[in-house]
Amino acid sequence: MLTKERENQVVELCRKLIMKQSYSGQEDGVAGALEEALKELGFDSVNVDKYGNVIGCIKGKRPGKKLLFDGHIDTVPVTDETEWKYPPFAAEIHDGKIYGRGTSDMKGAVAAFVSAAANFAQDTDRDFAGELYVAGVVHEECFEGVAAREISKAVCPDYVVIGEASTLNLKVGQRGRGEIVVETFGKPCHSANPEKGINAVYKMAKVIEAIRTLEPTNHPVLGDGILELTDIKSAPYPGASVVPEYCRATYDRRLLVGETKESVLEPLQKLMDQLMAEDPQLKVKVSYAVGEEQCYTGNKIQGERFFPGWLYDENEAFVQDVKKELEDMGYTPSITQYNFCTNGSHYAGEAGIKTFGLGPSQENLAHTVNEYIEIDQLTKVTDCYYGVMKALLK
Ligand SMILES: [Zn+2]
Repeated sequence: MLTKERENQVVELCRKLIMKQSYSGQEDGVAGALEEALKELGFDSVNVDKYGNVIGCIKGKRPGKKLLFDGHIDTVPVTDETEWKYPPFAAEIHDGKIYGRGTSDMKGAVAAFVSAAANFAQDTDRDFAGELYVAGVVHEECFEGVAAREISKAVCPDYVVIGEASTLNLKVGQRGRGEIVVETFGKPCHSANPEKGINAVYKMAKVIEAIRTLEPTNHPVLGDGILELTDIKSAPYPGASVVPEYCRATYDRRLLVGETKESVLEPLQKLMDQLMAEDPQLKVKVSYAVGEEQCYTGNKIQGERFFPGWLYDENEAFVQDVKKELEDMGYTPSITQYNFCTNGSHYAGEAGIKTFGLGPSQENLAHTVNEYIEIDQLTKVTDCYYGVMKALLK
């Protein structure tokens, strides 16, 4: 367990990060605070990359593996401050909990692994094997895994720990997600003479019904590769007596292990080809949504919205080594999967790096009004991260 002094240190660092509001693309304040903390705590190097990710490193005296802790420093917005019991950026402490946006998702975890790394370096006098990296990552909330690509390029880690909420349990996988865009193209005309045009919305209605007949893919552990319609838009909008010439529908596709950009689109494309063969007036296109966001550094972050799933066997040596260390410390972690998408999508899903999740708090505290972190969870996870370092850097 942590000493009182170390407990205060992690609590104060967490509070400092909460007080810097940091919606996606506006992480400069929190990045600055994190950079400052890493320097004060004696990290060997502190770098900020082109997207604004903050990366700290402590090198052991002996050669060994590279261990990276990943935590995003952006948060979802507060929609109505008046709904909050305590102000969302004041990091007030009440009944053993720190309140504020980003406490559980996930500045608490960032404060914890930064503190744990400093504690570990101090206690071992850096006489450990390998290199310890901590990363405060931008733009995760709607672009998971994209800014992280820059970090794995810079660090080339052997292991990655995702600090997203897990109530101190180990998470060895997650479904990924893709955003699929379906577009139909018609021919505009006055709606008083609809036979002169092609109504793109009628065409889309047919397409949507056909898509509903597709069988979802399935994985014994991760479940169904769900494909769900999430929005639909026609143009011109409003129509004002015009037969719409364009319609666009977005689908959320949950991705299973091994599914690729190509394998996911293939059955949809086949179905569309079949529908177009049956109806010469139907023009339909299927593709991935492309996102582009501005970083606080001025650079743009861009990519197709396709974030793969991943899953490790719980009997993998690195998972078992960590589990055993935590059990020796008196913790009782279970091994399951995350129910949501994380930066693990890049590290494990794209880059094939050995990855697991371990974090404080229940995952359902994320994105809520009155979000908080229990100080008990915060100090315990700091202790657990220390255990991970012991298990993997020897
Ligand atoms: Zn998160």
